[in-house]
Amino acid sequence: MKEKAFRKTLPAASETDWNFSGQNAFDYLYDLSETIGSRLGGTKGEYLAAEYIMDKFRSFGMRTFLHKFPIWTYDNKEARTEARIGKGNWKNIPCEVHMPCSSTPKSGITGKLFFAVQGYQEAITPDVKGKIVVMSQGIPKEEREHFLSYKPKALVFIDGRYETHLHRQLTGHDYFASWGSLPTVTIPYLDALPLVEAKLECEMRIKIANEEKYVWGHNVIGEIKGTDFPEEIIVICGHYDTHWQCPGATDNGGGTVIAMELARILAKKRPKRTIRFVLFSGEESGLHGSIAYAHELLESDKKERAKKSFDPASGRTLLERHRLGLNIDVMGSLLANDVILYSGPEDLGASMRLLFFEKKRNLRCSRGPMSSDGTPLAAVGIPVVQYGRYGAGTGFGHTGDDSIKYLSSEALFLSGDICLTWLRRYVVDTPTLPFKRDVSQEDIKKCEDYFQGRRGRDPRFETKRLFPKGDPKIKDPAKKNLE
Ligand SMILES: [Zn+2]
Repeated sequence: MKEKAFRKTLPAASETDWNFSGQNAFDYLYDLSETIGSRLGGTKGEYLAAEYIMDKFRSFGMRTFLHKFPIWTYDNKEARTEARIGKGNWKNIPCEVHMPCSSTPKSGITGKLFFAVQGYQEAITPDVKGKIVVMSQGIPKEEREHFLSYKPKALVFIDGRYETHLHRQLTGHDYFASWGSLPTVTIPYLDALPLVEAKLECEMRIKIANEEKYVWGHNVIGEIKGTDFPEEIIVICGHYDTHWQCPGATDNGGGTVIAMELARILAKKRPKRTIRFVLFSGEESGLHGSIAYAHELLESDKKERAKKSFDPASGRTLLERHRLGLNIDVMGSLLANDVILYSGPEDLGASMRLLFFEKKRNLRCSRGPMSSDGTPLAAVGIPVVQYGRYGAGTGFGHTGDDSIKYLSSEALFLSGDICLTWLRRYVVDTPTLPFKRDVSQEDIKKCEDYFQGRRGRDPRFETKRLFPKGDPKIKDPAKKNLE
């Protein structure tokens, strides 16, 4: 009796509300990666996942909507590669098609192999005409036109790893533009080796049937209005889309479900400032969702400033009201290392370093962009922390085996607990935000270099429409802008 009464007076009940549940997160992850599965941007799987996340957000009592953006999406109907050494027998070779490369004619193509395995320069020769070019590394963007001018028939990349799991090759429409219409596949190292070693004339047959469609992709937004500073927006984000035909458990079902569990907890807490959860799509095909989001913030910034009623002394644009971002990408492996990259004030890195130290955990933390959705936000001036957890289990990322079976609720808890503690300590309820809204020119330059090197697209230089054909013709399930 006494004990019961004592329990009632403990503050532990409200403290428990702050507990991140690894089990909840793991349950969401099962639904996303096993029940729904593959969620490539612009496909049915993507839309099912968007609906699933929206339902959860609504059940937490959050204001929820879709932010849509145009995207090319792809599907492969057939992919076959066979090779033979000299006049030997044809042997089937596993392959991954580079999506979205051109299809071959229905009957496929057959050609002699041209090996360029020391370096791409070997392939810059008229000898590649009519041949299927096999190479162990890519060709720099600026040299591709030169290479293509010699009219090779197809391109075969050798996967550099001994792994049996071939990585899904989703190069996105931006690369398609510079590779022209060349049918392209990747084959495993151990299948390529005998061909290269034979020093005999080899032939290959390739059959590819691809489809591409121009459709809507969907970012899912769930918002908790701040009680005291509703105009200050904190973005917690991650991508929920996957590579083509991947369950995407660690990349990035893991980050998605950590964000969802944070949403469940914070929605109950009535935070002082507005917390906006943005689960991006189109990341795997080239950061499309986050680039569209950042680009629209820039556009609305221009429009708001152009208004007569805008007073720069008292008013802030929607972009300026975005104070800080936390992007979570690749999560759920227990035997793994935590990595944080940040753009913005030094205190962002310091706060995370000290928090990991306090929790007796290692952290690799440095300044710079991550190949993920926080980078477009940083490029338009929003300070961002980007958090990933990499280990053996995450090595299956971008393969058909990126499965929940390698992940654990404990690992989701470890990362979720870090995020929640950090948010609680510095972001959610502090009277002022301890991190200046200041992304240095040096940080912006690093983002710029990233876009130049990897994707070739930068939210600051987007044109209004990404593609010339006009709006996608599919039914628009929801229309809502960012405000
Ligand atoms: Zn990812």
